[in-house]
Amino acid sequence: MYDQNDIETKKDALIATARRCFDVGLQTNAGGNLSVRLSLGNAIVIKPSGVGFAECTRDNLQIVSLDGKVEPSAFKPSKDSDFHLDLYRVRKDINAIVHCHSPWATGYASAGIEIPCLTVQTIEKLGRLPLIPLAENGGPQTASTITPFFENTSVRAAILANHGTIGVGATLTAAQYLAEIIEETAHIAFVRDSLMSAHNLTDVRVPTFGTQKEAALAGK
Ligand SMILES: [Zn+2]
Repeated sequence: MYDQNDIETKKDALIATARRCFDVGLQTNAGGNLSVRLSLGNAIVIKPSGVGFAECTRDNLQIVSLDGKVEPSAFKPSKDSDFHLDLYRVRKDINAIVHCHSPWATGYASAGIEIPCLTVQTIEKLGRLPLIPLAENGGPQTASTITPFFENTSVRAAILANHGTIGVGATLTAAQYLAEIIEETAHIAFVRDSLMSAHNLTDVRVPTFGTQKEAALAGK
Protein backbone atom coordinates (compact mmCIF):
# COMPACT_ATOMS: atom_id res chain seq x y z
CA MET A 1 0.00 0.00 0.00
CA TYR A 2 2.84 2.41 0.86
CA ASP A 3 6.17 2.82 -0.95
CA GLN A 4 8.68 1.06 1.34
CA ASN A 5 11.66 2.97 -0.08
CA ASP A 6 9.93 6.26 0.63
CA ILE A 7 9.08 5.10 4.15
CA GLU A 8 12.71 4.16 4.87
CA THR A 9 14.02 7.45 3.46
CA LYS A 10 11.55 9.46 5.55
CA LYS A 11 12.25 7.42 8.68
CA ASP A 12 16.00 8.01 8.32
CA ALA A 13 15.44 11.75 7.83
CA LEU A 14 13.20 11.87 10.90
CA ILE A 15 15.77 9.94 12.98
CA ALA A 16 18.48 12.47 11.97
CA THR A 17 16.26 15.46 12.83
CA ALA A 18 15.24 13.96 16.17
CA ARG A 19 18.90 13.31 16.99
CA ARG A 20 19.83 16.92 16.22
CA CYS A 21 16.95 18.24 18.37
CA PHE A 22 18.25 16.12 21.24
CA ASP A 23 21.88 17.10 20.65
CA VAL A 24 21.14 20.84 20.70
CA GLY A 25 18.98 20.53 23.83
CA LEU A 26 15.57 21.23 22.33
CA GLN A 27 14.12 18.02 23.76
CA THR A 28 15.13 15.61 26.51
CA ASN A 29 13.15 12.66 28.02
CA ALA A 30 10.35 11.15 25.90
CA GLY A 31 8.40 14.38 25.44
CA GLY A 32 7.72 16.27 22.24
CA ASN A 33 7.14 14.66 18.88
CA LEU A 34 7.91 15.07 15.21
CA SER A 35 6.50 13.78 11.95
CA VAL A 36 7.00 13.90 8.19
CA ARG A 37 4.56 13.39 5.33
CA LEU A 38 5.12 10.49 2.89
CA SER A 39 5.65 11.49 -0.75
CA LEU A 40 2.17 10.30 -1.84
CA GLY A 41 0.81 12.78 0.71
CA ASN A 42 -1.79 10.52 2.32
CA ALA A 43 0.14 9.32 5.42
CA ILE A 44 2.90 10.35 7.79
CA VAL A 45 5.81 8.88 9.73
CA ILE A 46 5.61 9.94 13.39
CA LYS A 47 7.48 9.31 16.64
CA PRO A 48 5.37 7.13 18.96
CA SER A 49 4.50 7.93 22.57
CA GLY A 50 7.10 7.05 25.21
CA VAL A 51 10.14 7.05 22.88
CA GLY A 52 12.83 9.73 23.30
CA PHE A 53 14.09 11.82 20.39
CA ALA A 54 17.50 10.14 20.75
CA GLU A 55 15.94 6.66 20.68
CA CYS A 56 14.01 6.87 17.40
CA THR A 57 14.73 3.89 15.10
CA ARG A 58 13.28 2.47 11.90
CA ASP A 59 11.56 -0.14 14.11
CA ASN A 60 9.70 2.15 16.52
CA LEU A 61 8.56 4.96 14.19
CA GLN A 62 4.92 4.63 13.18
CA ILE A 63 3.02 5.09 9.91
CA VAL A 64 -0.38 6.77 10.28
CA SER A 65 -2.76 7.60 7.43
CA LEU A 66 -4.18 11.12 7.31
CA ASP A 67 -7.56 9.73 8.39
CA GLY A 68 -5.95 8.36 11.56
CA LYS A 69 -5.39 4.67 10.80
CA VAL A 70 -2.20 3.48 12.53
CA GLU A 71 -0.25 0.71 10.78
CA PRO A 72 0.34 -2.28 13.12
CA SER A 73 2.95 -1.33 15.74
CA ALA A 74 4.03 -2.45 19.20
CA PHE A 75 4.06 1.21 20.31
CA LYS A 76 1.34 3.61 21.44
CA PRO A 77 0.57 6.48 19.05
CA SER A 78 1.70 9.91 20.15
CA LYS A 79 -0.84 11.86 22.24
CA ASP A 80 -0.37 14.69 19.76
CA SER A 81 -1.03 12.65 16.58
CA ASP A 82 -4.40 14.36 16.15
CA PHE A 83 -2.99 17.86 15.80
CA HIS A 84 -0.22 16.66 13.47
CA LEU A 85 -2.77 14.93 11.19
CA ASP A 86 -5.10 17.93 11.26
CA LEU A 87 -2.33 20.35 10.23
CA TYR A 88 -1.35 18.07 7.30
CA ARG A 89 -5.00 17.89 6.20
CA VAL A 90 -5.51 21.67 6.37
CA ARG A 91 -2.15 22.86 5.00
CA LYS A 92 -0.91 21.15 1.81
CA ASP A 93 2.34 23.15 2.09
CA ILE A 94 3.23 21.42 5.37
CA ASN A 95 5.34 18.27 4.93
CA ALA A 96 6.98 18.16 8.36
CA ILE A 97 6.22 19.16 11.96
CA VAL A 98 8.62 19.45 14.90
CA HIS A 99 7.04 19.89 18.35
CA CYS A 100 9.40 20.34 21.33
CA HIS A 101 9.18 21.32 25.00
CA SER A 102 12.34 23.43 24.71
CA PRO A 103 12.99 25.23 28.02
CA TRP A 104 13.49 28.91 27.09
CA ALA A 105 10.44 29.02 24.84
CA THR A 106 8.32 26.97 27.22
CA GLY A 107 9.30 29.33 30.04
CA TYR A 108 7.75 32.22 28.10
CA ALA A 109 4.78 30.00 27.23
CA SER A 110 4.25 29.21 30.91
CA ALA A 111 4.42 32.88 31.91
CA GLY A 112 1.71 33.63 29.36
CA ILE A 113 4.07 35.94 27.45
CA GLU A 114 4.23 35.82 23.66
CA ILE A 115 7.86 35.44 22.54
CA PRO A 116 8.71 38.74 20.83
CA CYS A 117 10.45 38.69 17.44
CA LEU A 118 13.31 41.08 18.25
CA THR A 119 15.87 40.37 15.56
CA VAL A 120 15.93 41.06 11.83
CA GLN A 121 16.09 37.31 11.21
CA THR A 122 12.92 36.52 13.17
CA ILE A 123 11.05 39.47 11.69
CA GLU A 124 11.91 38.20 8.22
CA LYS A 125 11.35 34.49 8.88
CA LEU A 126 8.50 34.48 11.40
CA GLY A 127 6.89 37.87 11.77
CA ARG A 128 5.04 36.67 14.85
CA LEU A 129 4.95 33.67 17.16
CA PRO A 130 1.31 33.25 18.21
CA LEU A 131 0.75 31.98 21.77
CA ILE A 132 -1.99 29.32 21.75
CA PRO A 133 -3.82 29.06 25.09
CA LEU A 134 -4.54 25.84 26.96
CA ALA A 135 -7.76 24.00 26.04
CA GLU A 136 -10.92 25.40 27.67
CA ASN A 137 -10.91 22.71 30.37
CA GLY A 138 -7.32 23.67 31.30
CA GLY A 139 -5.89 20.61 29.56
CA PRO A 140 -3.31 20.42 26.78
CA GLN A 141 -3.98 22.00 23.42
CA THR A 142 -5.67 19.76 20.84
CA ALA A 143 -6.24 19.96 17.10
CA SER A 144 -9.34 22.11 17.64
CA THR A 145 -7.33 24.77 19.50
CA ILE A 146 -4.15 24.58 17.37
CA THR A 147 -5.40 24.30 13.78
CA PRO A 148 -7.28 27.64 13.65
CA PHE A 149 -3.97 29.48 14.20
CA PHE A 150 -2.38 27.65 11.28
CA GLU A 151 -5.29 28.27 8.91
CA ASN A 152 -3.45 31.52 8.27
CA THR A 153 -0.88 30.15 5.80
CA SER A 154 1.71 32.75 6.80
CA VAL A 155 1.96 31.12 10.26
CA ARG A 156 4.97 28.77 10.31
CA ALA A 157 5.56 28.49 14.04
CA ALA A 158 3.54 28.84 17.24
CA ILE A 159 3.92 28.48 21.00
CA LEU A 160 1.64 26.34 23.16
CA ALA A 161 0.94 27.90 26.58
CA ASN A 162 2.40 25.80 29.44
CA HIS A 163 3.48 23.24 26.88
CA GLY A 164 6.02 23.90 24.12
CA THR A 165 6.63 24.90 20.51
CA ILE A 166 5.51 23.94 17.00
CA GLY A 167 7.53 24.52 13.83
CA VAL A 168 6.17 23.44 10.45
CA GLY A 169 7.79 23.37 7.03
CA ALA A 170 8.13 21.93 3.56
CA THR A 171 10.92 19.66 4.86
CA LEU A 172 12.04 18.25 8.20
CA THR A 173 15.11 20.46 8.11
CA ALA A 174 12.96 23.58 7.63
CA ALA A 175 10.67 22.62 10.54
CA GLN A 176 13.68 21.82 12.73
CA TYR A 177 15.36 25.14 11.96
CA LEU A 178 12.16 26.88 13.11
CA ALA A 179 12.17 24.91 16.36
CA GLU A 180 15.76 26.11 16.85
CA ILE A 181 14.98 29.73 15.92
CA ILE A 182 12.05 29.80 18.38
CA GLU A 183 14.29 28.62 21.21
CA GLU A 184 17.10 31.01 20.23
CA THR A 185 14.59 33.87 20.09
CA ALA A 186 13.22 33.10 23.55
CA HIS A 187 16.77 33.00 24.92
CA ILE A 188 17.62 36.34 23.27
CA ALA A 189 14.38 37.88 24.57
CA PHE A 190 15.17 36.74 28.11
CA VAL A 191 18.69 38.22 27.98
CA ARG A 192 17.34 41.45 26.52
CA ASP A 193 14.58 41.75 29.11
CA SER A 194 17.00 40.97 31.98
CA LEU A 195 19.52 43.57 30.79
CA MET A 196 16.86 46.20 30.25
CA SER A 197 15.52 45.58 33.73
CA ALA A 198 19.00 45.70 35.31
CA HIS A 199 19.82 48.96 33.52
CA ASN A 200 16.41 50.57 34.00
CA LEU A 201 15.90 50.75 30.25
CA THR A 202 12.31 51.02 29.09
CA ASP A 203 12.69 51.92 25.45
CA VAL A 204 14.76 50.07 22.86
CA ARG A 205 14.45 50.04 19.12
CA VAL A 206 13.11 46.87 17.47
CA PRO A 207 13.60 46.47 13.70
CA THR A 208 10.59 47.09 11.51
CA PHE A 209 11.94 45.11 8.56
CA GLY A 210 13.81 41.84 8.19
CA THR A 211 15.89 42.76 5.14
CA GLN A 212 17.47 45.86 3.62
CA LYS A 213 15.42 45.20 0.48
CA GLU A 214 12.10 45.33 2.37
CA ALA A 215 13.16 48.51 4.14
CA ALA A 216 14.19 50.11 0.83
CA LEU A 217 10.88 49.15 -0.83
CA ALA A 218 8.87 50.55 2.10
CA GLY A 219 10.83 53.80 1.91
CA LYS A 220 9.74 54.43 -1.69
ZN1 LIG B 1 3.99 18.23 23.81
